[in-house]
Amino acid sequence: MITIETHSINVKTQGNCEIIDLTPNVQEIIREKSFIEGNALIFASGSTAGITTIEYEPGLLKDYPKFFEKIIPSNISYHHDETWHDDNGHSHVRSALQGTSFVVPFKEGKLLLGTWQQIVLIDFDNRSRSRSIVVQLMGEKV
Ligand code: ZN
Repeated sequence: MITIETHSINVKTQGNCEIIDLTPNVQEIIREKSFIEGNALIFASGSTAGITTIEYEPGLLKDYPKFFEKIIPSNISYHHDETWHDDNGHSHVRSALQGTSFVVPFKEGKLLLGTWQQIVLIDFDNRSRSRSIVVQLMGEKV
């Protein structure tokens, strides 16, 4: 029988492209809720955040923000900033390009990620934020 459950992970971020590893949190929810096989949807409900997968190691944690700075610079003007004067036009554009969700299959209660593949939240906003990340599980339980 297929069960659907919606849970959340609350995290505080520094913003400015801080990358946070959510993998242990997602894995823990699957274990705690006794799911065996199915899909985990990880979704950031916010227009200045991103969800993706990357190898969570110090080099890439610098390379990825550097890449965004190159393709969507923070030091140029955006029309969005004229609308709200919150100076985070670049944060919205980065989030839109990155996407705010990611789906990972799991089997025998374990996420089917590669060894060097983590699920990450990237906070593109220009200030610290409290984020509530949705984790929706769909699959079979014990
Ligand atoms: Zn804004």
